[in-house]
Amino acid sequence: MLVVMKAQATQEQIQAVCEAIERLGFRAHPLPGAQRTAIGITGNQGEMDRGNLEELPGVAEVIRVSKAYKLASRDVKEEDTVIRFAGTDAAIGGRSLAIIAGPCSIESREQAMAIAELVAASGAQFFRGGAYKPRTSPYAFQGLGLEALRIMAEIRTRFGLRIVTEAIDNETLDLAAEWADVVQIGARNMQNYSLLKHAGQLRKPVLIKRGLSATLEEFLMAAEYVMSEGNYEVILCERGVRTFADHTRNTLDLSIVPAIRRVSHLPILVDPSHGTGKRDSVLPMARAAVAAGADGILVEVHDHPEKALSDGPQSIYPDQFARMMDELERIAPVVGRNLPRGGGYATESALQSIHESKRH
Ligand code: PEP
Ligand code: MN
Repeated sequence: MLVVMKAQATQEQIQAVCEAIERLGFRAHPLPGAQRTAIGITGNQGEMDRGNLEELPGVAEVIRVSKAYKLASRDVKEEDTVIRFAGTDAAIGGRSLAIIAGPCSIESREQAMAIAELVAASGAQFFRGGAYKPRTSPYAFQGLGLEALRIMAEIRTRFGLRIVTEAIDNETLDLAAEWADVVQIGARNMQNYSLLKHAGQLRKPVLIKRGLSATLEEFLMAAEYVMSEGNYEVILCERGVRTFADHTRNTLDLSIVPAIRRVSHLPILVDPSHGTGKRDSVLPMARAAVAAGADGILVEVHDHPEKALSDGPQSIYPDQFARMMDELERIAPVVGRNLPRGGGYATESALQSIHESKRH
């Protein structure tokens, strides 16, 4: 159920409607839009008695939301959600493309600093790096944990990059939220409902990667879990699904981008690294993702991918990342977007090294 407030409704009227909803035993989710505020109602497991909500001052109408996902739906909020980061121009969603780049895993301070310096020089605004890795094998590198979180906090101050890192359980969720700017929930955890609820209690944006076999509705229901707990800053990320195709690691389903944008106001990013598993396919699929309307790209970059402790074969070199940024900057205006560059602090030596690499 959804209460649509009149355009001229006051803050007090919105507050009074929220209180009336809570008195009925439900949860109220006020979602301000450009024209008017809508108040989502959750917690009703069947038909809901709407009480006298329709008669309250400032209410335009009370409508039923028929889709399974409600707060994530455009029925509740028409305008695109834009997630901003205080004190910076970095944003995810809206007209500007968000680029999140960095290694699969933080392997050492030197490795992370070297890559961060180069991605900042190419103009990325977000740095990614795994501290806790969900690996298929228990014998594979599991991440540096807290040490990696500390290294990334240093990267934030040194290079002016916002930090994105994955949490794999309730314990690492609190740690990631404490140290990073965006908490990632990985593909394998997309249906870990207790983790999603816990993420809903954070006051940090949550980036959810699509599960390996998740439908669009299941993907949006994962977002709904987070939002139903009161955290509306959710970012979706397509990263490929399992199919019979074996020429790539996963099949990057770019057709979900326009499908999500049609039904949801949440930003949708594309990860061409996990989506293909192959370095040479990353740039072509990144171009295609932006052309298809993605709100940004999440990409793995490594300065020595042949030595990487995880996902080396799909990690692009820093000079390939620089080229990717140049090309996306040119594609963006064709689809009504722009690629802001230089949110982070570029060092002279990194700019020089990128300049050199472009001449070859
Ligand atoms: C990652 O981003 O490194 C990762 C593990 O992604 P996914 O959950 O999509 O496999
Ligand atoms: Mn990875």
